[in-house]
Amino acid sequence: MDAVTPRHQPVRLRHEIRRRLLTVTAIERVTAQMLRLHFTSPELADFHSPSHDDHIKLFFPGEGDKPEMRDYTPRRFDPAGQTLAIDFALHEAGPATSWAEAAGVGDTLQIGGPRGSTVVPDDFDWYLLIGDETALPAIGRRVEELRAGVPVATFVVGEAQHFDTRAVWTPHWIAREPGSDELESLRKALAGFTLPAGDGFIWIAAEATVARSLRGYIMDERGHPREWTKAAGYWKRGEADAHEKIED
Ligand SMILES: Cc1cc2nc3c(=O)[nH]c(=O)nc-3n(C[C@H](O)[C@H](O)[C@H](O)COP(=O)(O)OP(=O)(O)OC[C@H]3O[C@@H](n4cnc5c(N)ncnc54)[C@H](O)[C@@H]3O)c2cc1C
Repeated sequence: MDAVTPRHQPVRLRHEIRRRLLTVTAIERVTAQMLRLHFTSPELADFHSPSHDDHIKLFFPGEGDKPEMRDYTPRRFDPAGQTLAIDFALHEAGPATSWAEAAGVGDTLQIGGPRGSTVVPDDFDWYLLIGDETALPAIGRRVEELRAGVPVATFVVGEAQHFDTRAVWTPHWIAREPGSDELESLRKALAGFTLPAGDGFIWIAAEATVARSLRGYIMDERGHPREWTKAAGYWKRGEADAHEKIED
């Protein structure tokens, strides 16, 4: 950030909307319920994803002529090498999950975007990232991309992963137990966490009701400033293809 840019100011960027056709090059099981698909395409040469919580649209064959679209996070990309990785949190049913589970090397996938990015600068004193498996790709990217030495705590419901980072990362993994309430589990875990001193940015993404409730808890009960809190519903129980920006 240069001297004229105020501290902590998010930068909004628009990108040229393009569709790209990718080919699967490798499939990796990160954990039991998380599948990482590696793709390549010459069309990735000018792919941009400046923010860890960018999303791209994935297009899957639907009924009739209309494709099904779902939002996913560019987990890792290398324009020079023309590669992109996407992590799929597997759940019971849905075109994205079914496609990922059945995918093989050589299969193709069409993607669109990202359409835009909101880049929260890495100039905060600390970060707190909260979410479920669907948020883990964005959380992993943020942890990996943060500057050296900055404290970042993560609270995630789901299977534990390892991220290589220069930041000072404190992970908290909350196992998903059958019948357990993930909102309660996250709130209980967060209750034991003291927000560090200084300016902090808190990022939340999970099932829409859970994310909304956690945002309220962070702002109302923990007194964290609204402008330094960002929350999104990455899916909605009982609803296909749901993305909810949670503002007010
Ligand atoms: C900005 C953004 C980024 C995202 N990034 C990722 C990512 O990188 N990786 C990732 O795995 N997901 C990510 N998601 C979430 C993903 O888009 C949804 O989970 C999506 O609904 C999955 O599509 P589907 O075709 O498998 O299921 P859908 O057809 O959309 O849904 C079928 C049913 O499954 C339920 N459902 C959907 N997702 C889940 C879930 N995770 N667990 C349990 N039930 C579910 C729905 O409520 C519905 O009843 C992201 C979402 C957003 C908005």
